[in-house]
Amino acid sequence: MNLSILKQGASRLGIELSEGQLEQFERYFQLLAEWNSRINLTSVIEYEAVQSIHFLDSLSIAAAGISLNGRRVIDVGTGAGFPGVPLKIAFPEIELTLLEATGKKAAFLTETAAQLQLKNVAIINARAEDAACQPEHRERYDLVVARALAPLNVLCELCLPFCALNGRFVAWKKGDITAETDAAGLALRILGGDLRQIVEIDAQILGGERKLIVAAKSSLTPPEYPRRSGLPAKKPLC
Ligand code: SAM
Repeated sequence: MNLSILKQGASRLGIELSEGQLEQFERYFQLLAEWNSRINLTSVIEYEAVQSIHFLDSLSIAAAGISLNGRRVIDVGTGAGFPGVPLKIAFPEIELTLLEATGKKAAFLTETAAQLQLKNVAIINARAEDAACQPEHRERYDLVVARALAPLNVLCELCLPFCALNGRFVAWKKGDITAETDAAGLALRILGGDLRQIVEIDAQILGGERKLIVAAKSSLTPPEYPRRSGLPAKKPLC
């Protein structure tokens, strides 16, 4: 299999992948393809597209200048493992938690972590609203990441409660995000977030545009948040 798109793109993001890491990505792709025929993991399954749309896109955080090694990272609403699993392969020193509400996807992630022999990976089959209220997860992570989960104001309520003071929350977004970031102003303030940076990733690397919204956790999240399951999406803070 030819992983040149991934290898070259990662290099442009400042990540040099070893042969062992490329083998892990290859096995991950095979597992995605196998399981995707049984459960709906992703609509993007063509080999070259997966390399850019899933793998490189997940690694694009490297362009945001956020240090990853040694960090406790949680991927909220990870689905088939994006961006969390590519980050773990590229930065094996991170301590990774993959949070996913759907049981079948969590089962896929458990199998993937075993097959790829990933160490220090926890898979939690739960909703963010519930997990964020548990002391072992609340404000325990240096970095909280989320891709394709919800609008930013909803994401703030689902993600910021996991983020430790002075930690970072990074949301993968696309297109004109002005209205979305404006609408999230109140949610950020209430939940202890502080918008720091919007990083535009070079479209030539990913074969498409990508913006990363970076927020810092500047004060603790009030204990009444997140609200009960479903409410953040149904009645977003705005
Ligand atoms: N992050 C992945 C990606 O970029 O490919 C998956 C995106 S998928 C559109 C959203 C995922 O979030 C789904 O797998 C869904 O089951 C999960 N999800 C939705 N709401 C959630 C919640 N409140 N807590 C945890 N997971 C949730």
